[in-house]
Amino acid sequence: MSEQHSGKLTMEKLVSLCQRRGFIFPSSDIYGGLSSCWDYGPIGVELKRNIKEAWWRSVVQERDDMVGLDTSILMHPKVWEASGHLLQFSDPLVECKSCHLRWRADDLQEDKCPKCGGELTEPHQFNLMFKTFMGPVEEEANVVYLRPETAQGIFVNFQNAVNTSRKRLPFGIAQIGKAFRNEITTGNFIFRSREFELMEIEYFVKPGTDDKWFDYWLEERLNWYMKLGIKKENLRLREHSEEELAHYARKCYDIDYNFPMGWSELEGVANRTDFDLKQHMEHTGKGLTYLDEETKEHIVPFIIEPSVGVDRSVLAVLCDAYDEETVRGELRVLFRFNPDIAPFKVAVLPLSRKENLTALAKDVYTDLRPCFMTQYDDTQSIGRRYRRQDELGTPFCVTIDFQSLEDNQATIRERDTMNQIRVHIAALRDTLQAKLAGEDLFVLPEGGVIWKGGE
Ligand code: ATP
Repeated sequence: MSEQHSGKLTMEKLVSLCQRRGFIFPSSDIYGGLSSCWDYGPIGVELKRNIKEAWWRSVVQERDDMVGLDTSILMHPKVWEASGHLLQFSDPLVECKSCHLRWRADDLQEDKCPKCGGELTEPHQFNLMFKTFMGPVEEEANVVYLRPETAQGIFVNFQNAVNTSRKRLPFGIAQIGKAFRNEITTGNFIFRSREFELMEIEYFVKPGTDDKWFDYWLEERLNWYMKLGIKKENLRLREHSEEELAHYARKCYDIDYNFPMGWSELEGVANRTDFDLKQHMEHTGKGLTYLDEETKEHIVPFIIEPSVGVDRSVLAVLCDAYDEETVRGELRVLFRFNPDIAPFKVAVLPLSRKENLTALAKDVYTDLRPCFMTQYDDTQSIGRRYRRQDELGTPFCVTIDFQSLEDNQATIRERDTMNQIRVHIAALRDTLQAKLAGEDLFVLPEGGVIWKGGE
């Protein structure tokens, strides 16, 4: 699929499909959009939620050594002094002396304006944090920042989390939340925007064991993407060079994904050392240490940080699941999402809008809804409705036809193969559950048959 998708999928195609099918819209669309901000629609919101839930399940629920937090976006402004963001969280910016457009100096191939060829100013550092004011008076003393990462909320709560969760080293804290960066260069759809969501883990370890845990998390995170259904050949690791390393990091690897615009960072895994905890201790005078029970010494843990953008994960999942094929001379476009993260799991489709059919289909819909995210659709021809569900990535369609009124059976149609089986309506729920968990379509419940009707 990697060749297939790099040949077939362009960002334009994806943006248009996402908009047409209700995955993602430009923010404030009716006002002409707001540069590099995006809204998730009725389908996209489900996909995004499922990705976040899959991450939380894997890094919090299924682990004994992790807890979660949900900290505020606005923090004490001194946090950003201590963290180094006020001084260091900046990009070199140049301005064109003729058209006044601004560019990130490190993105430019030549020392001329890419738009008009004009002369550029010397670079100056531009801080990426959004500033606002707390309270009614807009003065310097009231400045607060929108957080550019969620990590600091975890660091400043280190002692609270240790005291209340009673976790022993090594242990980690996970958080999902919005972050804001006044990026100079945005673009490539939801790849780089100014408001985005992060999923961050801060894993606290004994100094000296940090290299081991770094390798552990790198592997763990790579495996997570593959479990999510992302193809191995579309993932790679890239180590940061000395010059590239963030001010707090001793070592950093990017997990890159083969996006339509080329290999780009999906997740960063960094060894942040004891930098952050030490900085906050120095700026607050509070002890952010951990009592090592063996040595009875207070130590400052080292921190391994796997940090990934939710939106970039959504983009990678969309790109990876996208597929096109020709079926009886017609183009079929589909998302082959892993059922775990598919926005809707099942669609119930009555063959026609005849009253007795829709009544039965609605009963089935009502019965399935508490178990799965289920859609009901009785518009257009059945073929078009199957194609629509393919474009939403719905793994299974349940079709109610006239024969269903007589034999109480319904057809289950599988997205990936378009194969169909026919089962008793009473067995639908359990059968769908098993198929969503990975059972082969042709393993039939009692009374079920392989359906040759086709589309
Ligand atoms: P980039 O260089 O691509 O802007 P970064 O190296 O600044 O990213 P990190 O600070 O390592 O990014 O942030 C961790 C993760 O957060 C990234 O791997 C990415 O998934 C996500 N991320 C960072 N900036 C943005 C953004 N502006 N929009 C969407 N996601 C982002």
